[in-house]
Amino acid sequence: MSANEQGSPAFLIVDDNRGFLDLTAGLIGRSYPGARIGRAGTGEAALEHLLGSTWDVLLLDYRLPDIDGIEILAEVQARGIDVAVIMVTGEGDQELAADLFRMGAYDYLVKGRIGTMTLRRSIDQVLTRRSLERQIREQSDELGQTSLVLEERARALDTAYAKLRDRKEQLRSLSASLEQTVHQRTAELRETTRFLNKVLDSATDHFIMATSRDGTVLTFNRGAQALFGHPPDDVVGTLHFRDLFEEIARDDDALAELVAAILEEGSHSRTLTGTHATGRPFIAKVTISQMRGALLDELDTDRADPDDSGAWATHDEGGLVIVGSDVTHERQLEEQNRAYTNQIEVANADLRRKNEQILEATRLKSEFLANVSHELRTPLNAIIGYSDLLFGGIYGDLRDKQRTAVEGIGARAKDLLHLINEILDLAKIEAGRMELHPERFVLSDVIGELVDTARILAVGKDLAVDWEDQGVAELNCYTDRGRVRQILLNLVNNAVKFTASGFLTIATSMSPDGLLCVEVTDTGIGIPASEITAIFDEFRQVDGTSTRMYEGTGLGLAISRKFALNLGGTLRCESTLGEGSSFFLQIPPELASRAPQPAPVALDPPL
Ligand code: ADP
Repeated sequence: MSANEQGSPAFLIVDDNRGFLDLTAGLIGRSYPGARIGRAGTGEAALEHLLGSTWDVLLLDYRLPDIDGIEILAEVQARGIDVAVIMVTGEGDQELAADLFRMGAYDYLVKGRIGTMTLRRSIDQVLTRRSLERQIREQSDELGQTSLVLEERARALDTAYAKLRDRKEQLRSLSASLEQTVHQRTAELRETTRFLNKVLDSATDHFIMATSRDGTVLTFNRGAQALFGHPPDDVVGTLHFRDLFEEIARDDDALAELVAAILEEGSHSRTLTGTHATGRPFIAKVTISQMRGALLDELDTDRADPDDSGAWATHDEGGLVIVGSDVTHERQLEEQNRAYTNQIEVANADLRRKNEQILEATRLKSEFLANVSHELRTPLNAIIGYSDLLFGGIYGDLRDKQRTAVEGIGARAKDLLHLINEILDLAKIEAGRMELHPERFVLSDVIGELVDTARILAVGKDLAVDWEDQGVAELNCYTDRGRVRQILLNLVNNAVKFTASGFLTIATSMSPDGLLCVEVTDTGIGIPASEITAIFDEFRQVDGTSTRMYEGTGLGLAISRKFALNLGGTLRCESTLGEGSSFFLQIPPELASRAPQPAPVALDPPL
């Protein structure tokens, strides 16, 4: 163990003289109590000790029997053994001293001159030197460490510096590109501003103004110049926007109320009276909006003044955007429209009144007709009855001329009765008093009878009457049989009347939507396309010399269609002039339950 680590030094004394060994060991033991002391009599033993343990001081005899002290010293150096060598020489060997020191010996002592003091001084010096050397070594180690750390730091600093340089370079190029961007943006902004000004100025129908936050007009577009008649120099930076509108020009309360509305809504629209430079007023529809960041509460409601710096507030500092147009003309038009609408409403009310009067007159007319018809039918029936009796010879034989005359009276009376009946039907329908009397019947009963009638009517004509049924002959119907019969009789009558020869076909079928279809087709004179709708009007007959030869009232189809409608169905016609006509009746076979009808006219019992 070394002296530094243990506190007490370790000594190896090498000498072939036993007495010297003991003497020296004794001296050392006394001078350094607790010291470890080793002894070796030969160079060989010395090397063994040196390699086997750690020593602070080696007291080495210069002359040894086996290996000479110089060689051991060289070995110590060569093997890097950490021990302080004090060479013990004989008298006369002192000239070796310089060599010994060169070879790394710490000191040398001359045998025979070694006393307690000499030995102790030499050992103390050696130990002090060793301790100093150790410290130096340690400090130099520390220094080495520190220098490593410093080197490391220096390297780190170098890197940091390089990075810094890079950053600086990046910053420089960034700032250059930023400068370029700013340049570019400024140019774009200039272009945008130029474009916006152009846009503002091209809105010649609208005034567009911007004000500072105190209300001073800052921009005054071409439209504003035209509508208000002021050159921009008279307005921009000079006029408060209130000066341009009559209602707020002098009324502070009105201006305050307007500002409050703008503040509340952000954008406020209203109609104001604009004042042209000439004093001429016009109606302006105005929208006033706050510019972003506007401080309207700072809006000066008295007068616009420059701020402390003597400059007018700029757009960026907030303010108003005022956009509007002259709507005087529109307002006048609206006024006119309102007047027209009023007139129309008055006229409409008048028309409604007249319509009601007409309806009432129609109702009265129908009632009158119903009454008159009834009054006429009674004497007519008497005339027909008596003419039948006369014609039948009940009142004695008649001469031929008399028979002809009586026959004529009867026939004309029947015509008249037919006409009266039709008029009565129409009157009842118009008065809303046509009653339906639904009953159960089988379709073939009605159609069979109809075919028979058609054949009787066709006697004397080259006219074949046929019935083509598509599976509905036995259909059980529940509707007003009398009205159905009346409609079909009218159609068959017409078909026979307007067909000289050919065919009259009655076709029955069921439509896909469950309606009973009866089609009456003839090969008669046909109806011009232009008249097909009109023939369903009252008293309407197809014009032309040819039709005049046919008798009729022109009421049959009108009544038939109204009946069809009342039965919940339709009646329509298709025809080709000169080829023939088809009439289509479509009705529900079961009459839908209907709301109760008004009370029937008391004066017309069923015929
Ligand atoms: P009218 O008593 O005159 O027959 P309608 O109302 O029954 O009255 O018919 C109106 C008109 O429609 C007829 O006058 C005739 O001109 C035309 N018309 C009706 N049915 C036929 C038909 N089958 N063929 C040709 N014309 C017809």
